[in-house]
Amino acid sequence: MDKKVRVRYAPSPTGFLHIGNAQSALFNYLFACHFDGTMVLRIEDTDTKRNVENGEASQRDNLHWLGIDWDEGPNKPNPKYAPYRQSERNAQGIYHKYIQELLDKGIAYKDYTTEEELKEMRERQRANKEAPHYDGRWYGKSEEEQKAAEAKGLKPTIRFHFPKNHDYEWDDIARGHVSFNSDNLGGDFIIEKSDGMPTYNFAVVVDDHSMDITHVLRGADHISNTPKQIAIYEALGWEHPTFCHIPLIFNPKTGKKLSKRDKDTLQFISEYKRHGYLHEAIFNFIAFLGWSPKGEREIYSKDELIKVYDPDRMSKAPAYFDQKKLDWMNGQYIKQMDIDELTKRTMELVAEGETDEAKRLQSIPEDQLEDLLKKTLGVHQRDVEKLLEVMQYAWDYYNVLNQEFDYDQILAKDGFTKEDVTAVLQNLRAKIAEGRTDYAAAIKEVGKETGIKGRYLWFPLNFAFTGAISAPQIYQIMDIYGEQTNLALLDRMIDALK
Ligand code: GLU
Repeated sequence: MDKKVRVRYAPSPTGFLHIGNAQSALFNYLFACHFDGTMVLRIEDTDTKRNVENGEASQRDNLHWLGIDWDEGPNKPNPKYAPYRQSERNAQGIYHKYIQELLDKGIAYKDYTTEEELKEMRERQRANKEAPHYDGRWYGKSEEEQKAAEAKGLKPTIRFHFPKNHDYEWDDIARGHVSFNSDNLGGDFIIEKSDGMPTYNFAVVVDDHSMDITHVLRGADHISNTPKQIAIYEALGWEHPTFCHIPLIFNPKTGKKLSKRDKDTLQFISEYKRHGYLHEAIFNFIAFLGWSPKGEREIYSKDELIKVYDPDRMSKAPAYFDQKKLDWMNGQYIKQMDIDELTKRTMELVAEGETDEAKRLQSIPEDQLEDLLKKTLGVHQRDVEKLLEVMQYAWDYYNVLNQEFDYDQILAKDGFTKEDVTAVLQNLRAKIAEGRTDYAAAIKEVGKETGIKGRYLWFPLNFAFTGAISAPQIYQIMDIYGEQTNLALLDRMIDALK
């Protein structure tokens, strides 16, 4: 790279941080870090009707949770480039200055077409089987005609005039060579709305240019905007940055772009967080949506990704969202993580109380909860894929005496007799009543003393403590319960079998 790299992530605060936004942010972040460049956060809030309250804060907080930070932005202004919110930039007249320049050059013009006229135009084009386009009716109109429209109280939009049959081309990092002809771009397009706000396609050019952005990495849904933006760069005599259009994320179930309406797929970063995905795993997973390093390996830390990131390996094909892979990956991260750290993170989820699982656990005193979660992780660290599952298990263990077990099931199994099952339970009960807490050793002794072995020993105990035939590490679970509960569970089953 000859120039110092400057990239930007430019969300519109119209919703909460979606996995598609996070993907754009993440590739910009990897790009900036890999090339030792600067990452800018710019807030594109000119569509005031679509802005949501806390939209910007949600972007910021969730990006931070993911481990993505920036060097410049509303909270870290560089005086050379600030402000970083388009609404503030607009108030300073930054955009209108260039709109005026294009008006003066005759490349932009005022358009007084009314909503009804536009609708008619669209309908006529549809009837004639033409692609929808603005027909340029106000291009080259005289000042008198404009004044007459003003006198009628009409407020103009400002449109950019395309030259005829002109190719707009660029070499896209992900897509290779891309070309559009000006005749197929929907006609002259609006660059300033009648309320004086610039449109996205105009503001983005002024900002990328004036913020010295060298590379624009953004979702492939913006490919058709790029020729319009290049037209503005040309008209203002500016060089355009290098573009990289990141593959869109597809839902494998619908075969289409992942949509916020696909209710069966978690898509917001806050949801991953709430369900107990680890941010390290999400970062790793998203980095593989539209990109992959050489080789088969899939687990990479953030630092490793920064190191191996190679923009030339950005893919052109859509990235299919694979929920199973995400869960697997999260499970891998859970397995690798220190149990104290996992406990801490689960405690945080409980404190945030954003799921029923978390809310229920809030009723448990904090030090007891910490012990419960840590021991539950001790049993399940190797078999869960999300911390939400840990919270579920913890609650089930905590609340075991309120659950009903169907003890008759055990006697329905081949070879299990009431006498043997009861002997095992009674023998262990006596040991626990003596105060034994070395449960693994105690169970072994039960086997020796009763002469009952294998499944005939373990199944009844699994049943007594979990209500199921197979259970992991039964003695660890007994350690979670403690003496009183263990005795109560054994008594309950002994009684039921009488
Ligand atoms: N505000 C635009 C969006 O959220 C940014 C597109 C771009 O990066 O140019 O889609």
